[in-house]
Amino acid sequence: MLRKEQTVGGAGLDWGKLVFGTRVDTHGFIKHVWRDGQWDEGEMVEEPYVKMHVLANVFHYGQAIFEGQKAFHCKDGKVRIFNDRMNHVRMSRGAERMGMPTMPAEMFQAALTRVVKANLDFVPPYGSGASLYLRPFMVGSGPQLGLGASSEYTFMVVASPVGPYYGSAVPATVVEDYDRAAPMGVGAVKCAGNYAADIVPAARAKKQGFPICLYLDAKEHRYVEEFSTSNFVAITKSNVYLTPDSQSVLDSVTNSCLEKLAADMGLTVERRRIDFDAEVASFKEVGAVGTGVVITVVQSIQQGDKVHNFEQPSEVLTKLYNKLRAIQTGDEPDPHGWMREVA
Ligand SMILES: *Cc1c(COP(=O)(O)O)cnc(C)c1O
Repeated sequence: MLRKEQTVGGAGLDWGKLVFGTRVDTHGFIKHVWRDGQWDEGEMVEEPYVKMHVLANVFHYGQAIFEGQKAFHCKDGKVRIFNDRMNHVRMSRGAERMGMPTMPAEMFQAALTRVVKANLDFVPPYGSGASLYLRPFMVGSGPQLGLGASSEYTFMVVASPVGPYYGSAVPATVVEDYDRAAPMGVGAVKCAGNYAADIVPAARAKKQGFPICLYLDAKEHRYVEEFSTSNFVAITKSNVYLTPDSQSVLDSVTNSCLEKLAADMGLTVERRRIDFDAEVASFKEVGAVGTGVVITVVQSIQQGDKVHNFEQPSEVLTKLYNKLRAIQTGDEPDPHGWMREVA
C-alpha cells in the first residue's frame, strides 16, 4: 500500500499546532502476527481498526506492552529515527516479564522503517519543531478464557505526527495516597496496566493545578521514583546530574541519552537512591524526561503543605534539552550514533 510520490510534510498539516496523539488518520499502521512460535512478514493496514477475538487475552488479563520513539526530518533532508535499538532492548525485557514472545531487533527496526516510509507525507518538515511519533505495541490476541500465555500475539506500530510542545515550567505534586509500582512489581515494564492505574491520580492532580505527579517508592514513601510517564532528573547545587536507581522505575531512553550528554558536558552523573525529604533542598533544577517532550522543566514540587521551588530559568536542563534536540534534527553531529536513517 506504499503510496507513490510522497514527500516529507506532504500532508500539509499545521505542524506547529499539533496536539499529542490526535492525528492517526495517516496512510496506515503495520501489523505482525505471531502464531506457532513464529512472526509473520507483517502487512500495512490502512484503516485505523483491528479485528480481534472477543476473548483475546489483552481484553481480560491485560497482556499488553508498548514503546514510543520519534522520527525526524533532519537538516540534510534525511528522515531518521532516534535510538530505536534501546526501545527494542526494553521491549524485549518487558515481553519476557509478561510471558510474551520477543522478536529480532531487525524485525522491530524494519517495522518502524516501513511505517515511516509509508507515511512520509506525515513526517513534519525540518524546522517545524514537530516530529513523527511512533508507537510500537504488542498484545496477547489469542482467544482463551483461562489465564495463561496467549496462543497468538499481535505486534503493531502506529505513527502520529506530534507538535513540538516544549512549554513553560510546570508545578508538580507528590502522590501520597496511591502507588505507581511495587518494589518487585512491573514498574520497569512499559505494560498497559501501569498507565491505567495512573489515570485517577493524574486527573485529580490536574484538577488541583498540577500537570504532573511525582511518585515516591511504594514501600516507604521516602525515595524518589518517577513521574507518571517520565523519569525524574535533578541538577543539584553542586552540578550533579542526579536520577533515581530503582528496580521499579521505567528505564527511559531519553534519560540514558541525557546522562551521556551531561557527562560529555563535564557534569558528574549519579544514579542512586534519592531520599526526597533529605535531598530536595539540594536540587537546583528538576526535570521530567521522556520521548514526548524530552525535558519538561519542573518549577516546584508540592508535598502536603510544603512547596519546594527550583531555580528558573533552568540553565543546565535547557542546555541539555537544546543539545539533544539539535542531535535529533541533525543540526549538530551525533557522536553516540543514536540516529538511524530510514528515508
Ligand atoms: C515511557 C516512559 C518514560 C520515558 O521513557 P523514554 O524511553 O525516555 O520515552 C518514563 N517513565 C515512564 C513511566 C514511562 O512510561
